[in-house]
Amino acid sequence: MSTPLTIYRPGLAVGRDAQVLHRAASPEFFGWLEHTRPAGGCARPIRLTGTIAAVDRNTGRITGHLHTDELPDRTLYKACGNRRESVCPDCAWVYRGDAYQLTRSGLTGGKGVPASVGRHPVVFATFTAPSFGPAHHRHIPRHTCRNRQRCDCRPAPCRARSTAGTCPHGQPAACFARHDANDPRLGQPLCLDCYDHDHQVVWNYFSGELWRRTKQAIERHLAALSRQRSIPKVRIVTALGKVRWVPPVRVSHGKVAEMQRRAAVHFHVLLRLDGVDPDDPDALVPPPAGITVDDLDAAVHYAASRITVTTPPHPDQPDGWLIAWGAQVDVRRINSTDGELTDDKVAAYLAKYATKATEATGHSSARLTPATVDDYADPEGDHVARLIDACWHLGRPAHADMASGAATADDRQGSLDAKPKIYGGLRRWAHMLGFGGHFLTKARRYSVTFALLRDTRATYRREEDDQPADTMTVGTLTYIGAGWLTEGDALLANTAARQRRESRRIGREELAHEAWLVGAAA
Ligand SMILES: [Zn+2]
Ligand SMILES: [Zn+2]
Ligand SMILES: [Zn+2]
Ligand SMILES: [Zn+2]
Repeated sequence: MSTPLTIYRPGLAVGRDAQVLHRAASPEFFGWLEHTRPAGGCARPIRLTGTIAAVDRNTGRITGHLHTDELPDRTLYKACGNRRESVCPDCAWVYRGDAYQLTRSGLTGGKGVPASVGRHPVVFATFTAPSFGPAHHRHIPRHTCRNRQRCDCRPAPCRARSTAGTCPHGQPAACFARHDANDPRLGQPLCLDCYDHDHQVVWNYFSGELWRRTKQAIERHLAALSRQRSIPKVRIVTALGKVRWVPPVRVSHGKVAEMQRRAAVHFHVLLRLDGVDPDDPDALVPPPAGITVDDLDAAVHYAASRITVTTPPHPDQPDGWLIAWGAQVDVRRINSTDGELTDDKVAAYLAKYATKATEATGHSSARLTPATVDDYADPEGDHVARLIDACWHLGRPAHADMASGAATADDRQGSLDAKPKIYGGLRRWAHMLGFGGHFLTKARRYSVTFALLRDTRATYRREEDDQPADTMTVGTLTYIGAGWLTEGDALLANTAARQRRESRRIGREELAHEAWLVGAAA
């Protein structure tokens, strides 16, 4: 079969329109379009080559195979699956839908989660980072608008201080501007030299540990309340047959990390109270009646104000850094009478942040290497350049300090041998400004998993394609590259994907309309 592979290589000086014409005019065009459909909307699909075998699930026998050489472009296209909207809008759209489903099912049930979870006490809490130095910010002390999406309220002056004067570097220590929502100064330090960039990247780096300990403290606080109120512990038998007495209440959470404009991470967390079923410790059952949403609210405030982490010693900070939450922890009730926060709104909110990373800071890059870091890091540069520089500098190999004689006494004794290495991860996460965690995480018990949603979708697609359910395909495939072969191919495949989605949407609306007509006639 003829293939345009040799004619159009990326980078070859052939216009996109010519590529489109050439592809669309070829007799194999519709076969190609069908072939690329599973990755159609993807911005940068993965290209694979090799053999795909059809295996009978019941007998394990191979019922047929196919080499990718027999396929259009002699390649199998697979969607990149990136969750970031700025990297691949289409794959992020799919991810966002999954994130929405899994968050929502934890609030209302569905997808195998019992509907009774809808009656468990839930709060939506926002945990912020503390200040690492004054930065331009926008604050609306009181909203008078009807719709927050179209808020036109007047912000307060940024940092109004009549007696502030200037900092030791000669920068004004006050700002009287009422910043617009899209003012590029937002998140920027008033003085780059006063700002503690080291502390901020270390905070981002250890924020996951701070969260882990905070959640533990919330659960301990609720366990103590249960004891005070004489709510008995629950006797369970573990999978290994051991008997354990556990607190009668536990907390399941779904959490999303948001990178603020100042490039400090901040967590939005759904916390739900669950009980324990002595006969089935994995079941989702309501908490005991004696523990309420007020107790959950208080437990979150209690933990957020008390829990801190002191990081291990670092040559630049021998006592380590203190990692604590910022002063304001916002805790809100869902589905309360004011109607401001509903299940749907919270699920959509979390799903939206799940498709973002560092975009709000203006920085976006792949993982940095010694060869690329100088393009982004600069100790004298702007805010982001200094943060990346701090990651790289603090994450330097521990032996560099040993060699230069700057190692601490403890390092030489070897008692903290492993500890300086902990900071090595800062280099790995320099492109994330120190944050090495996942942007969306959830407790095992919170709801369904991404894997389950993906499997459900694969099964659905198989049914759509009429592939027998007792056949599975197994591939021995090798990665040969990423991206469409030409800009023209990208345009054709993406456009077709967009049209399919649009027609599905219209199809659904027609169905809904028909159902409405039938209902109206009845
Ligand atoms: Zn993609
Ligand atoms: Zn300002
Ligand atoms: Zn407003
Ligand atoms: Zn200064």
